[in-house]
Amino acid sequence: MEKIKAIALFSGGLDSTLAMKLIIDQGIDVLAININTGFGSTKDRLEHMQSMCNQVGAELKIIDIESEFLQDVLFDPKHGYGKNFNPCIDCHAKMFTVAKRVMESEGASFLISGEVLGQRPMSQNRDAMQMVLDESNCDGLLLRPLSAKALAPTIAEINGWVDRDRLEEIVGRSRDRQLELVKEIGLENFESPGGGCLLTDENFAKKMFDFIKYDVFEVRDIPVMKYGRHLRLPDGAKLVVGRNKDENAHLQNIVNDKYCHIKIVALPGPHSLLSKNATKADKELAAKIILTYCKTKEGEVCTLASENEEFKATPFRSRDEIKPYAVMQ
Ligand code: SF4
Repeated sequence: MEKIKAIALFSGGLDSTLAMKLIIDQGIDVLAININTGFGSTKDRLEHMQSMCNQVGAELKIIDIESEFLQDVLFDPKHGYGKNFNPCIDCHAKMFTVAKRVMESEGASFLISGEVLGQRPMSQNRDAMQMVLDESNCDGLLLRPLSAKALAPTIAEINGWVDRDRLEEIVGRSRDRQLELVKEIGLENFESPGGGCLLTDENFAKKMFDFIKYDVFEVRDIPVMKYGRHLRLPDGAKLVVGRNKDENAHLQNIVNDKYCHIKIVALPGPHSLLSKNATKADKELAAKIILTYCKTKEGEVCTLASENEEFKATPFRSRDEIKPYAVMQ
């Protein structure tokens, strides 16, 4: 008989790893899918996710949905936003829709997630969880192994593919039972590196709200939003100035023809991006701002370079003069 297969929504965190382990231990193949909306912080995560999957015996697949996420979820969420630019209910529903699609194409029989009833009061209460299942037509298909015994039986339990008695009944925010399971399994290095979703970050939300006032947001704009100080100049140009070596390197690698790259000639300083359609006044102001972030002397005439042309400017006397243009410092 062919082995039953399940698709796990996998974040790389402890709960989704444990959820997979509980199912794999019942003889079921698990394919862990990590859905990339473009707004997760990916730094060091792939290695961590692979290590978690290896430890519990799941296969890992990254599914990129950036364009679908922008088109269907981010700018017109049916259930609105959370505290910042995070359309969490719609985003969850999209993830389940994608997971169901993968389930069908992989010939899998059901879905699992690491959600724990009552762990996050807003998104993981019974109503919010049910709403997400209704929206994505996944009702009955999704098994949450960590809270299964506190929830109604799902198709996998009803059909006897999974023994409900060997699942958990965790409810609430305490992590005690999860840590017991970690010990039982011998799971190592389970603390997930890096921050979570940028859309829940207050400063990132400010940048997004500012962006959409002036431009249509596209997938290629996502990397621009992740690095640097963001400023909006009086005629509408966007200026992004790197804050350190790491950000300068990331900004330098961005290929997006909405922006031109600006460098400082013969002086150490930040790498910057400026809207290609910036007016002359915005361009001159951008040059002064960029130089104000360098170690320049008052009134020092410096050279900047952009797209085969060089131009000269002087810095502001103080960074206070830049403040009115800052979207986020
Ligand atoms: S935090 Fe981000 S990734 Fe998570 S559900 Fe909300 S919008 Fe989606």
